[in-house]
Amino acid sequence: MKMITIETPLVSECSATECAYNLGKNCHARAITIGDGAHPSCDTFFSNRNHTKAAMWAAGIGACKVVTCQFNDDFECITENIRVGRSKDEISCLTFAAR
Ligand code: SF4
Ligand code: SF4
Repeated sequence: MKMITIETPLVSECSATECAYNLGKNCHARAITIGDGAHPSCDTFFSNRNHTKAAMWAAGIGACKVVTCQFNDDFECITENIRVGRSKDEISCLTFAAR
């Protein structure tokens, strides 16, 4: 497998404990995608009773499609870290801030 090294913001906390990538309120996907084009929902969210064993890394943000957020630059997140959790009926980026 070829490996790449990139710098991304981190997911510092996620309260969606039902997600397969969540262990102890931390996300352990390699990188998540935020946004469906309109809302800052976590596009990587996957409700499952089985959970990842990959507790050795913290998740980065691979892409964000929410161009209305002030932390979005060229479809990427440029803040240091984000928090994810329930907002209304969605699992969303709680760091979203409208321009
Ligand atoms: S940030 Fe998204 S993918 Fe990661 S644990 Fe939370 S809901 Fe799941
Ligand atoms: S802070 Fe803004 S740009 Fe970063 S992931 Fe959340 S919605 Fe996207």
